[in-house]
Amino acid sequence: MTNDRRPTTALSDDASLRLVVKYIVASESTAVSSVPELVVSPNAVISLKNVAHKYGDRFALNGVSFDVRPAELFGLLGPNGSGKTTLFRILSTLMVPVGGTATIMGFDVARDPNSLRRQIGVVFQAQSIDIKLTAAENLTHQGHLYGLHGKTLHARIKEMLDRVGLADRANEKAETFSGGMQRRLELAKGLLHHPSVLLLDEPTTGLDPGARRDLWQYLAVLRDEEHVTVLVTTHLMEEAERCDRLAILNEGKVVALGTPDELKHEIGGDVIVLDAKDPESLAARMRQRFQVDAQVLQGKVRLEREHGHRFITDVVEAFPGEIDAISVSKPTLEDVFIHRTGHRFWTDEQEQA
Ligand code: ADP
Repeated sequence: MTNDRRPTTALSDDASLRLVVKYIVASESTAVSSVPELVVSPNAVISLKNVAHKYGDRFALNGVSFDVRPAELFGLLGPNGSGKTTLFRILSTLMVPVGGTATIMGFDVARDPNSLRRQIGVVFQAQSIDIKLTAAENLTHQGHLYGLHGKTLHARIKEMLDRVGLADRANEKAETFSGGMQRRLELAKGLLHHPSVLLLDEPTTGLDPGARRDLWQYLAVLRDEEHVTVLVTTHLMEEAERCDRLAILNEGKVVALGTPDELKHEIGGDVIVLDAKDPESLAARMRQRFQVDAQVLQGKVRLEREHGHRFITDVVEAFPGEIDAISVSKPTLEDVFIHRTGHRFWTDEQEQA
């Protein structure tokens, strides 16, 4: 199988062998209808099948399955409590799932964590750099952890600081850096051993809009120029829009999977939101009169409809004086979330926080 967006770092012999074996088994022994899933898997860099995790009796992840393709910028979008951090901890080998399998570059996160750690770079939400050390010192310590020394390490540090735009600050303490620079140093740390896969947990937390934009641009450069496969968790719609593909999580399950455009197109039309004095009564009468699926969400009537601008004229005429305001808009990823779950992404309290 060829794919010109494969990561530049080759799979270890062992991992490629396992993939090849899987592929041969898929090609030779399966019915045509089941081939696509099996043929896709060998080409996946990250592959999750029915991953489950529990805290006590409660499922935090309940049968999560998806594949991440080579050199893809893949987003894991979900509201607070949807299971992003739990899944991130499993992929970064900090936790073993109670069910299912997760593999990265052919290595099983539960069975082969030590080999896997060499293949992945991880940037956690919490700060991991030592701000009392200089940028170069931080990277030197990281390099030693990966068995890098001497000239090789020195060259690697220089290359990484160049890449994240910190070359001229190499010998300054990280405590003198802005939030955005500190995050870039975290990235340099995660990338120092040249991993083919980079995992980032809400990497823009606490950054101003300019630093957020820079970081996302940098992730796109990593994908395009270094062919690194990037998985990033986020609860921000505008960040999710920048991903090649997304898995949207809700209550420990994948509720949507696809490119941002594919997901928005499934809504098929416009999203109409109405403010009314009695939204429940208006929604009921709209359902009856127009056979539409009008719902009340957080005090507003909401529905999806093709040619929304034409439809609202009919609604205003049908219910004179009852509607205080109307908006018609193209679907967003939040609309996809509502469409799939029946509730909003944010609660009122979260939105105000
Ligand atoms: P997210 O990162 O999307 O906010 P989490 O993975 O942190 O989601 O949480 C998923 C669910 O698991 C939530 O219901 C959360 O309350 C619960 N949870 C997370 N960590 C723990 C823990 N250490 N002990 C018990 N429950 C937890």
